[in-house]
Amino acid sequence: TLLAVRPNLVLRGYATAQDVSTLLLVEHKDKAISSSTLNALTAASKLSDNVTALVAGEDPEHVASEVSKIKGVSKVLIAKDKVYEHGLAEVYAPLLASTQKQLKFTHLVASHSAFGKNIMPRVAALLDVAQVSDVIDIESPDTFVRPIYAGNAIAKVKSKDPIKVLTIRGTAFPPAPAGETGASSEAAPESEKPALTEWVSEELQKSDRPELGTAAKIVSGGRALKSRENFDKLIFKLADTIGAAVGGSRAAVDSGYCDNAIQIGQTGKVVAPEIYLAVGISGAIQHIAGMKDSKVIAAINSDPDAPIFQISDYGLVADLFTAVPELTEKLKK
Ligand code: FAD
Repeated sequence: TLLAVRPNLVLRGYATAQDVSTLLLVEHKDKAISSSTLNALTAASKLSDNVTALVAGEDPEHVASEVSKIKGVSKVLIAKDKVYEHGLAEVYAPLLASTQKQLKFTHLVASHSAFGKNIMPRVAALLDVAQVSDVIDIESPDTFVRPIYAGNAIAKVKSKDPIKVLTIRGTAFPPAPAGETGASSEAAPESEKPALTEWVSEELQKSDRPELGTAAKIVSGGRALKSRENFDKLIFKLADTIGAAVGGSRAAVDSGYCDNAIQIGQTGKVVAPEIYLAVGISGAIQHIAGMKDSKVIAAINSDPDAPIFQISDYGLVADLFTAVPELTEKLKK
């Protein structure tokens, strides 16, 4: 009856799954697809079956062929040029914008990684639409769920823009599995390549430890570690004993006990491992924002009233300087 009384409700017509065509930006390094792209693909597949993946790089063919085999990819666009090799947003943003303009995608999707976060707001600006970031669920082609206030509230946002530009929180979606048949591929439309910036060099830390973003186990240390030496001796040793990745609170990072790249929280990485062990971390909301979706949370803290215990499944009230070596020894056996 509502439709009969207000027919314009129907005629106004928000996008339906049939109208949706999505362009997924693929992030890759050293000829491997980044795992967060697989999560973003699952999100993109919730919009419709029509997902085109864009792979750019100096030699993107290998990655493009891998991408074509993932379930949910219906076509692969390849942008082959030296300028795309190092992920510079200044050339990726016009590439996405001009690909959208020529092929009329309704949705542009990337993962909410440093790469995606750098590029997608620029793409939205070039297309003169709003950007919807850190999406954790997709309700419909124009309605998205995302955390606000450092994860303390969840907002449902509806975008009326004709093109939706989204970044996806990887931990909120499972990775897309391998498919049965390879999707076809073709060259991406030509695009401007402004020479605003130039890649000079990068210094990367080499580590045999698991990646924070995909690790099943994480051991994280806080201000209570008191020095880099203690952090190495206690946190890294415990993590290595159980094959875990290492994280740190912002206080630990700011005090120089561990590197900025492993900060967990609102202004660091967002993780959701099977088990997260917080050692000497108080549990400030900004820290919790980055780890509260972990399946099992355990904490070691000398203060029984530390807020971290409120969200922990297991808590040990103890001095970390005795508890961590003991735990490490026990786990070794
Ligand atoms: P503290 O709060 O000092 O806690 C140390 C804990 O160790 C205490 O609970 C204490 O009881 C315990 N302790 C002390 N000695 C021992 C011992 N011997 N054995 C066992 N336990 C012991 N923080 C983040 O972590 N990540 C972020 O991304 C982040 N972003 C922020 C963004 C903004 C805008 C702001 C304002 C803050 C942000 N913060 C972030 C900072 C956050 O508010 C806290 O200051 C920080 O998380 C505290 O780190 P901590 O728990 O290591 O230190």
